[in-house]
Amino acid sequence: MTKPVGLLTLQGDYEKHRQKFASLGVETFGVRRPSELDLVSALVIPGGESTTLTRLMDRVGLREPLLDFSVNHPVMGTCAGLIMMSSILADEKFKDFGVSPLGMLDCSVLRNGYGRQIDSFTAPVAIDILDGSKAEFAAVFIRAPRIVEVGSNADVVAAYKGEPVAVRQGNLLGLTFHPELTDDCRIHQAFLNMI
Ligand code: GLN
Repeated sequence: MTKPVGLLTLQGDYEKHRQKFASLGVETFGVRRPSELDLVSALVIPGGESTTLTRLMDRVGLREPLLDFSVNHPVMGTCAGLIMMSSILADEKFKDFGVSPLGMLDCSVLRNGYGRQIDSFTAPVAIDILDGSKAEFAAVFIRAPRIVEVGSNADVVAAYKGEPVAVRQGNLLGLTFHPELTDDCRIHQAFLNMI
């Protein structure tokens, strides 16, 4: 791998992703403006606040460049990052809060679909992008979105209580939970394998 892995550093817990990649011996580079996408091999859109991410992304003119980048580079979104990657918000009224997803991943999400901060939880999920087999991963859900519909272009790769919690569409991976908040590096490694 020649170029570092990009982290969208507009807002959110990108530092945790940096630490995760560092523990795998992989260099990262913070992306805040369109031209910086040329310097990275892949991109992580971290968890945070999709309202703020929407505002900042549009302010710096990253919307179209991110869409172009996603056509031929791996992109992983976690929690708010997944919301930004999704194609539609299940509850249109959230538009009032100014969240406008990029529409790169064929799924529909409901923001805060499991409740409020106090309803955050950790649970084992069955995921099938690790080592080519179904494995268990301790997933941390923090004001997580719910994936309410998965389009025909995307595949469900992890489920919790029978509901999708991660989807993959070619080189795009969206997770409702936070793999950067555990000691387990397997999802970050699987993402690196997509580069
Ligand atoms: N609920 C947040 C949002 O709507 C996401 C929370 C998170 O990323 N942990 O953007």
